[in-house]
Amino acid sequence: ALHGSARYASAVSYITNHDKIVSPVDTKYFIDNQFVDSKTTEWIDLHDPATNNLVTRVPQSTDGELNAVVDSAAKAFPGWKATSLLARQQVMFRFVALIRENWDRLAASITLEQGKTFADAKGDVLRGLQVAETACGITTQLTGEVLEVAKDMETRSYREPLGIVSAICPFNFPAMIPLWCIPLATVTGNCLILKPSERDPGAAMILAELAKEAGLPEGVLNIVHGAAKTVNFIIDEPRIKAISFVGSDKAGKYIYTRGSEQGKRVQANLGAKNHACVMPDANRNATVNALVGAAFGAAGQRCMALSALVLVGEAQEWLSDVVEQAKKLKVNAGFEEGADLGPVISKHSKERIESLIQSAVDDGATLPLDGRGYKPEKYPNGNFIAPTIISSVKPHMKCYTEEIFGPVLVCMNVDTLEDAIDLINANKYGNGVAIFTNSGATAAKFQRDIEAGQVGINTPIPVPLPMFSFTGNKGSIAGQGGNYFYGKSGLNFYTQLKTVTALWRSSDAISTKASTAMPT
Ligand code: NAD
Repeated sequence: ALHGSARYASAVSYITNHDKIVSPVDTKYFIDNQFVDSKTTEWIDLHDPATNNLVTRVPQSTDGELNAVVDSAAKAFPGWKATSLLARQQVMFRFVALIRENWDRLAASITLEQGKTFADAKGDVLRGLQVAETACGITTQLTGEVLEVAKDMETRSYREPLGIVSAICPFNFPAMIPLWCIPLATVTGNCLILKPSERDPGAAMILAELAKEAGLPEGVLNIVHGAAKTVNFIIDEPRIKAISFVGSDKAGKYIYTRGSEQGKRVQANLGAKNHACVMPDANRNATVNALVGAAFGAAGQRCMALSALVLVGEAQEWLSDVVEQAKKLKVNAGFEEGADLGPVISKHSKERIESLIQSAVDDGATLPLDGRGYKPEKYPNGNFIAPTIISSVKPHMKCYTEEIFGPVLVCMNVDTLEDAIDLINANKYGNGVAIFTNSGATAAKFQRDIEAGQVGINTPIPVPLPMFSFTGNKGSIAGQGGNYFYGKSGLNFYTQLKTVTALWRSSDAISTKASTAMPT
């Protein structure tokens, strides 16, 4: 029953603090609409990034479990494919409603496991929810084409599901990225095997529960866990037809190459270095606030985080304002009132970010704001780094060539707009970029000449809403791209075209001999 008490019981009893969990419960896997204890002997400990207390153990799914989810999906596919589009749409309507009802619960799971602030975690859920909401319009989105190609003859095209598809997700958006995949993959008639990040699978598990409650039949969505071993299984399993991957360059290039070799359709979004180009004619106050929010929100762990600032001409004087605004941000555990940014995901990540900051100093850059060593009073054991600003950065420095993925903004000075465009285009990545200016002509030149796939004008983090697609470019995608997430491109990814050409002669044509020539 949609409004059964069980759901409300679970929806109200969730953790909203960073207290030590007395008896952590192991994460289960999800098969045939059941949550099942793994038989594995290999567990991955998951710690609250604010305290490093144990939250749960995540199983490395066993070979038997991995095979079982594929069997389950294979069994479910024919029935799900045959389910009417209107019935699949009804499931999506209910899924959307349930995500809204469980919004806080999903966000709390994200704050606990991933570390971002509760307000930011709600945004993580919302941006995924919007993909599900847009998928509710599937009845107009999935139409094919029809043309009368000759007398009494017509060709029509259909969009059919691929079969079993898979998603391999990163840690930084535990709800949004699974929701880039679940709605579109399933509403188009596929069965989806999803592997959340082993570092924060909780939100995906709640989404599975909600999908079941929304009426998704057994086997249409299954969830497995683990790291490289699970990914290799997905790549090698011939019954899995497609892989959606979001994550780092290293894993993404590997998955793209090996998955493509196996004949799979692969979409892969990778790392980024997102630049803001600031012109001196921009609105100073609004620009500085936008820069600081986009650089340090989510502790810089967004693929669209603003990580490189290019100050043009007199705008170079604005750096001091950026530093002052960044100092005002409150760094604290995600459930704490007023926290602007939380910890980074792991101790290892903190060490890596701090060593990249040190490399900048060693390379001769300056550090107008150094957030290393910051510890919120109540959380001395968390993976905290306060906002850090590196200036006088040169393109060859490691802090610029590598994605830092932390609350660190690298700043560079150039003289002209052309210099800024050349500098940004020379970077290997091409995810997002933004220009701040009050000149339409400057913005027009920038948008035309810049090579990044997602351009913001007076707005940072220009992530397109789901009626468009997420259009990263250059080194921020694997292969030549084209297989963008969500939007029309996302629908293409999860469907294959079938064309049917039919001849229905009304007259009784009499032919005495078969023709062997190609029809003209
Ligand atoms: P990650 O590559 O470490 O992990 C992503 C997924 O790949 C996980 O499910 C993980 O289990 C798996 N994986 C990791 N190493 C693997 C290996 N060697 N072999 C096989 N599988 C492996 O990425 P992450 O740290 O979770 O996420 C952060 C990265 O994701 C950043 O680089 C960020 O820019 C990127 N990202 C990109 C986008 C985008 O749309 N471009 C969005 C979000 C995150």
